[in-house]
Amino acid sequence: MGRCQRTDDELRFRGLQRPWMVIGLQRRVDNSAIAASNQAFTLVELLVVIAVIAVLAGILFPVFVTAKQQAATSTCVGNLKQLSTAVRMYADNNSGALPCPRRIRSDWPDNWAGVDKPSAKVYPEHGQIWEYVRSANIYVCPADRGRPANRVLTRAQRKDDHEMEEYARIEYPLSYSMNDTLYDLERLTSLRTDTVRRHSTILLLIHESRDTIDDGAYSWRWDAVASSVANPTDVHAGGGNLAHLDGHVKWFTLAEIERQRHSGIWSPGYRQQ
Ligand SMILES: [Zn+2]
Repeated sequence: MGRCQRTDDELRFRGLQRPWMVIGLQRRVDNSAIAASNQAFTLVELLVVIAVIAVLAGILFPVFVTAKQQAATSTCVGNLKQLSTAVRMYADNNSGALPCPRRIRSDWPDNWAGVDKPSAKVYPEHGQIWEYVRSANIYVCPADRGRPANRVLTRAQRKDDHEMEEYARIEYPLSYSMNDTLYDLERLTSLRTDTVRRHSTILLLIHESRDTIDDGAYSWRWDAVASSVANPTDVHAGGGNLAHLDGHVKWFTLAEIERQRHSGIWSPGYRQQ
């Protein structure tokens, strides 16, 4: 402060000797003050800008969220179409026999998605349809990324298996399950497509809920063991996507999915009353 004061005094003293210096200095100070007052926002202007941004964000945010959800739904439909096409190709190359919904035997590959039942880990590259897919990405719906597989997580927590816990919580790489009734439990063999009728109503693959997915198979029968019963997801605008045996994929509301699964029309053994 003292130094500044001294400098001003010195300038003033020199100004007395050279008056044009003082006038020039004064003019520079005045110009910068005017420029500063022109450049700065007043409080009202700032509040108006903030209000406009808030209104725009309020309008655009739901639009972005809806667009993101719709993109996830169409990617999910695309995934299911590619997976069901791969299942059909597998059947064509195996005398019509469908892949197995879940791990039954101990040799690899023995099920469609490469799920190792004891560890609940998923190895898509070991799955029966891998050679027709060759992309692990399409086994996961974008709406499920970063969401835990809760049944696998609970199992890992019970076993106190921290590695499994981390896996189930962050990267469980499967969103879809195959209709368990496409496997003949008595003969221990998958059904052949030419022995199944009503291909357009038989369920092939479903986007399963993150609460129940754990083995690649979709069991919904009333006589199934409670711990193996699977639930459909509702992450796509309150519904989910289903792929049918004829390859067509469709979005249904959760209420419609529930109605279909309780009616039994997804099962090849179903006979309309
Ligand atoms: Zn999905």
